[in-house]
Amino acid sequence: VEQVTVIGAGLAGSEAAWQIAQRGVPVKLYEMRPVVKTPAHHTNQFAELVCSNSLRANGLTNAVGVLKEEMRMMDSLVIGSADRHAVPAGGALAVDRDGFSGEITRMLHEHPLVEVVNEEIQEIPTEGIVVIATGPLTSPALSAQIKELMGEEYFYFYDAAAPIVEKDSIDMSKVYLASRYDKGEAAYLNCPMNEEEFNRFYDALISAEVAELKEFEKEIYFEGCMPIEVMMKRGKQTALFGPMKPVGLVNPHTGELPYAVVQLRQDNAAGTLYNLVGFQTHLKWGEQKRVFQMIPGLENAEFVRYGVMHRNTFINSPKLLEPTYQFKSRPNLFFAGQMTGVEGYVESAASGLIAGMNAANLALGQDLFVLPKESTLGSMAHYITTADFKHFQPMNANFGLLPSLERKIRNKKEKNEALANRALESIQHFKEEKGLSTGK
Ligand code: FAD
Repeated sequence: VEQVTVIGAGLAGSEAAWQIAQRGVPVKLYEMRPVVKTPAHHTNQFAELVCSNSLRANGLTNAVGVLKEEMRMMDSLVIGSADRHAVPAGGALAVDRDGFSGEITRMLHEHPLVEVVNEEIQEIPTEGIVVIATGPLTSPALSAQIKELMGEEYFYFYDAAAPIVEKDSIDMSKVYLASRYDKGEAAYLNCPMNEEEFNRFYDALISAEVAELKEFEKEIYFEGCMPIEVMMKRGKQTALFGPMKPVGLVNPHTGELPYAVVQLRQDNAAGTLYNLVGFQTHLKWGEQKRVFQMIPGLENAEFVRYGVMHRNTFINSPKLLEPTYQFKSRPNLFFAGQMTGVEGYVESAASGLIAGMNAANLALGQDLFVLPKESTLGSMAHYITTADFKHFQPMNANFGLLPSLERKIRNKKEKNEALANRALESIQHFKEEKGLSTGK
């Protein structure tokens, strides 16, 4: 069987290599550390957690908890090791970081079908089956190569994203659907503010606490992509002539032009998620919740993703990738991890799991897998390959990415439970259908 090359032994690459080897296919796993370092990694170990030691919620009331359970069912190396090295963290799965990464490193080194090479890959191999999983801090030489392959406009070095909320959690009695001057089909949900509301919001926003920028991220603020709090600090009027401009957005509830608006734009094809237009921000997450819930209509908003402004290498997956994680114009080239526009440790490993299984299947001459959209694993692949390519931003696992239930359930907890059960059943069914016997 043809050997598969995996580049990068982070969260995604380690999981991909494991899945490939477990399917009986030999793997060559390239990792540049310790020969070449990244600005965030500190050890020589695989699957190093560069920041928090938490893999977030573990229960089935949270989408990332469901994702972990699905990964257990699919014999995930990353989640298996996390479970074995868990430390007390309430409802979250936090790990002893050295024990966790140490075990992953050892299991891959000891696997008879895995060959580890500590070397920086500077050029994308032109032959054979390749999985690129070099992460948000991909080395400059390889980044340049990927950029060339993708085309400049589909490759990004920074993630400057606005928060995203669940449509179900927006108070629709306060907001209204309209496009400026009624141009085209009404596309935005508008949250109107009077002068007093705007003043209060302004004061809260400019005094809210911002997250610390890493040294290597300091170059990030360029014109045209300014955090909303920085723009506001330039003067009270700046946002009123920018993203909060009310012109052409008469409120049909009152017949009047509001003093200011916050516009929400549909974020996924199913219309279950909306982003706050122009609100890319570097505020701390708790502060985003506090301040943005002051926006009329968003008092009870559920944030599926907070705004971020950080260094991140990722590609425009809606244009470039298949839900199998294959590059459209070269089917034996796979991408996995943060690079594909999934966000977070667990999501990165999850994409590595699917990319790895599919790379192995390709080597074995078998059909490739597209996981059911009802599963969180499948919903992420679906999202990154079908999102609006013009406004593509990386995404965490969340219930808003799953197709709606056939019957409407009003109670949020019950609804999430039903979504979680359906997701796990879909994976069980998928495994039976494909004759997969791995995992639980
Ligand atoms: P990585 O885990 O970074 O793995 C990529 C690997 O590829 C690395 O080992 C790297 O050394 C190697 N590599 C790079 N270029 C080459 C090359 N040319 N040749 C060979 N090897 C190469 N997510 C969370 O859920 N929680 C957090 O707290 C969190 N904090 C973060 C903090 C920072 C500073 C950053 C940048 C990201 C953070 N993330 C966090 C986001 C993300 O989940 C992690 O970055 C995650 O590690 C991504 O997994 P990955 O496999 O895509 O990349």
